[in-house]
Amino acid sequence: MNPELLRYFRQRAELGEQELFLGGMTARELLTLAAGGTAPAPAYERPARGAARLREAIADAAPAAVTALDALRAEALACRACRLCDTRSMVVFGEGHAAARVVVVGEAPGAEEDRTGRPFVGRAGKLLDQLLLSVGLPREQVFICNVLKCRPPENRNPLPDEVARCAPLLHRQLEIIAPQVLIAVGKFAAQTLVGSDESIGALRSRVHTYRGMPLIATYHPAFLLRSPQWIRPVWQDFQLMRQVLDEQA
Ligand code: SF4
Repeated sequence: MNPELLRYFRQRAELGEQELFLGGMTARELLTLAAGGTAPAPAYERPARGAARLREAIADAAPAAVTALDALRAEALACRACRLCDTRSMVVFGEGHAAARVVVVGEAPGAEEDRTGRPFVGRAGKLLDQLLLSVGLPREQVFICNVLKCRPPENRNPLPDEVARCAPLLHRQLEIIAPQVLIAVGKFAAQTLVGSDESIGALRSRVHTYRGMPLIATYHPAFLLRSPQWIRPVWQDFQLMRQVLDEQA
């Protein structure tokens, strides 16, 4: 059997799963995905029983991080440091566990995120949930945020001065959470955290370092919705992230 699948089955067992399912995916669909086929339509999975226990344990251990993140969130909600404050509906600070072992960093809020104030909702968010679940990480166990906290109009690319003004918020988030692994999805997140202008194709499938933290770069889920042939390589990047995480346990 494929060693990646073996690792996946072991991770699900560690989370207390008695039978295999992945957010509505069957074993056959997972095998199709692993073999290079396209993913089925994503659907959200209930948190695993083991995940709920872990979440409670981490919450008890991280009151200082919760307080620090709340203070930073209040600062971000009032931020007017760049032009995007004039066109945003909501600041999308990020969400997840204050002591998460994994932080996912994307590019910027889209229309749905701007409307709800939550990161990675909609189809791309559902696909991200699936990718995280495929390596045994329910969304509740990670922290998810973007480089920019406000939506660029018409989803245009972030401008350099916007990244420069907003990135300090991200750096402080990561300092507070202090994850064991970072995964940057999309070019802007990867280039900002790696400090490189290389393409995402050149940056993916290897381990970088951000301020001493291991960092994996890969394609953005929104790109995968348009180019599903990249789902398997991205899944392999998530497996690499899980491998790095396991090595630190
Ligand atoms: S994008 Fe960042 S820097 Fe610009 S207004 Fe929003 S929070 Fe402030």
